[in-house]
Amino acid sequence: FNVPAPKNEPVKGYAPGSPERAELKAMLKTLKNQERDIPMYIGGQEVRTGNTQRIAPPHDHKHTLGHFHAGTTAHVQQAIDAALAARPMWAELPWQERAAIFLKAAELLAGPYRARLNAATMLGQSKNAFQAEIDAACELIDFFRFNVHFMQQIYQQQPESAPGMWNRMEHRPLEGFLFALTPFNFTSIAANLPAAPAMMGNVVVWKPANTQIYSAQVLMELFQEAGVPDGVINLVFVDGPTAGDVIFKHRDFAGIHFTGSTGVFNNIWKTIGENVSKYRSYPRVVGETGGKDFILAHSSANAKEVATAITRGAFEYQGQKCSAASRAYIPSNLWDEVRQYLIDDLKSFKMGDVEDFSNFVNAVISEASFDKLAKYIDAAKNDDSVEILAGGNYDKSKGYFIEPTILVAKDPQYVTMCEELFGPVLTLHVYDSQQFEKTLELVDNTSPYALTGAIFAKDRYAVDLATRKLVHAAGNFYINDKPTGAVVGQQPFGGARASGTNDKAGSILNLLRWVSPRTIKETF
Ligand code: NAD
Repeated sequence: FNVPAPKNEPVKGYAPGSPERAELKAMLKTLKNQERDIPMYIGGQEVRTGNTQRIAPPHDHKHTLGHFHAGTTAHVQQAIDAALAARPMWAELPWQERAAIFLKAAELLAGPYRARLNAATMLGQSKNAFQAEIDAACELIDFFRFNVHFMQQIYQQQPESAPGMWNRMEHRPLEGFLFALTPFNFTSIAANLPAAPAMMGNVVVWKPANTQIYSAQVLMELFQEAGVPDGVINLVFVDGPTAGDVIFKHRDFAGIHFTGSTGVFNNIWKTIGENVSKYRSYPRVVGETGGKDFILAHSSANAKEVATAITRGAFEYQGQKCSAASRAYIPSNLWDEVRQYLIDDLKSFKMGDVEDFSNFVNAVISEASFDKLAKYIDAAKNDDSVEILAGGNYDKSKGYFIEPTILVAKDPQYVTMCEELFGPVLTLHVYDSQQFEKTLELVDNTSPYALTGAIFAKDRYAVDLATRKLVHAAGNFYINDKPTGAVVGQQPFGGARASGTNDKAGSILNLLRWVSPRTIKETF
């Protein structure tokens, strides 16, 4: 059995007149016209509680896409029981059998599921067609295929043996169940967090963000059709603390695969610490959390390249990527040029719903997010030290729309230079071009996060200096490119400091967290 090294899934263009565009448009129409009734999935059974909550597109919040059935602590307990019941069969299955299931999931997604999952992501999470394609289709297909390739490497890795003995390593699944707690912003991440531990023979209780449940159901159907056995991945809809209350006190809790905000992860870590003596083993705590990602331009940079990186890096998917640029540092010698490019470029950005494919900007995920962002924008409007270079308007009458907004702050420690806002607001500071080294310190110290960052410079010395001085400022560091768009297998993704445990999604490092190896020495 030899899994060939995969290639990245090609991105479809959805050009006018293309068959993929026609198929996606038709799927959007079909989904919009049916109200879906979304159950939980526990032990392979659909569970309906009757306690339903409405799902609406963020760009059209009066429209109903469907309802999901909310559960209670009893359902979380049932999901744990179902997972543990499935565990012996799943853990003992040859790894090639598990690999085949996830390779099939990749094929299903590349084919018959592609339009449906993309359309569900577009409607439920307000993503444009291109952003949905690179997330729900390409990145997720890549996660499945590359992770199978990495799992093969793990299982084949064996120690040396001396004459008269045979040493071997058994990469056992963890003893217990895993908890996957997933965010709204990437359908691929929501799927990979339960799938990666499951591939390695673990069983999982999965709780998605409420704002991603609409596409989560499609994922669950994909897992089932690919052949993931009942009980291996269980999908529950409860609020986070309710799930945590049962899960983190359970003796068989073996670890968490989390992506979300830093505050939530910090609380989870504390709770796990308080309960640590209850568990069979020290749980694996893997979390990718917040970011305050930067673009730093040096005086030798090309102004147009910098401006384009800012507008794309900050405003794709409304700035709701963990990797999105949200603070920029521009040298004074380039400022006039960069400023003009920014203003011109943003004029070409259309905002609106996802069905019109010419819209680059759609809505932010929720009213809570909209209100939070509006408050920051209002505070900036009332602060004389801040200029609103572009945008600044917002409207939630139909959907949660916020114009791509660029703030220029005199104070490099201004609140929006430091805090994660998670929306289409970038703050920029113009520094004295003679003060590059001082600015490197500023970039390093302004925020507690260290997820992504980019340096733009033609001068090799500046590139080298930034790469060395910012060694801990970003887990994914870009030279002359925007800080978004990591590709599985090419740029393993994750950050340190307050941005997470840096276990690099889409790499062998992540999969290694989901096994507990046993070394066996046999003498003859
Ligand atoms: P979130 O922290 O609000 O939610 C994440 C998950 O935790 C959801 O399922 C949510 O329901 C649950 N949750 C919320 N409060 C909880 C609590 N008190 N106890 C237990 N669970 C709780 O995050 P989000 O808004 O869905 O996603 C945005 C965040 O995710 C941003 O901070 C972003 O930077 C981060 N993110 C990071 C990466 C990365 O790779 N570092 C990738 C994507 C998103």
